[in-house]
Amino acid sequence: MKILLLGPPGGGKGTQAKLLVKKFNIPQISTGDILREHVKKETNLGLKAKEFMQNGELVPDNLILNMMEKRLKKNDCSRGYILDGFPRTTPQAEGLEKLLIKLNQNLDKVIVLEVDDKDIINRMSGRRVHMESGRVYHVKFNPPKNEGVDDLTNEKLVIRKDDRPETVERRLKIYHKTTKPLIDYYKSKNIVSYVNGNNKIEEIHKRIREIVS
Ligand code: AMP
Repeated sequence: MKILLLGPPGGGKGTQAKLLVKKFNIPQISTGDILREHVKKETNLGLKAKEFMQNGELVPDNLILNMMEKRLKKNDCSRGYILDGFPRTTPQAEGLEKLLIKLNQNLDKVIVLEVDDKDIINRMSGRRVHMESGRVYHVKFNPPKNEGVDDLTNEKLVIRKDDRPETVERRLKIYHKTTKPLIDYYKSKNIVSYVNGNNKIEEIHKRIREIVS
């Protein structure tokens, strides 16, 4: 099962991807998470990507495609995976297509999570992360068991730099201009389904399960 989750930043792709990982036992491949790991470890890629990320800009396509080629060739991808945050541009979608042909694979489903900009801005302002693990919470919609700290480690939760309001607005602009056109790209392949991303987390998950099964 190879699933691509498309939708605005902060639209719940990561949350839904994690629920699908549990259900189908296939990996979540989040370019954002992989990049944050590179930034933390200060790898060559991390040093190149850091500034783009902090400013809410996209990391250049060639860096992303190299990174994803390595990732999709790993053994754990053989049974399937959930793509979260990639592709985000037409060149990335074309690059992915070439890569899938090389790997003799194809995407089964593209799930579009639909959420309005104003709801995204509301949501992002409540988002908190546990830096070390990448676990994401929301003060209202998905609060930690104890206020301000991670459920598993009890360490402090923080606001990601790229979740600041002015950066969120930039990321939304880029989403509409650059990423949203990919829906049409995949529509021509007849694999697109829409899901209302304003529903409760569990309801959205159920709907996605219906689509993929
Ligand atoms: P995310 O966690 O998916 O919202 O990604 C955080 C940031 O990482 C984005 O704002 C971009 O700077 C960068 N990023 C993640 N995925 C991609 C991608 N596919 N192409 C370009 N930049 C990306």
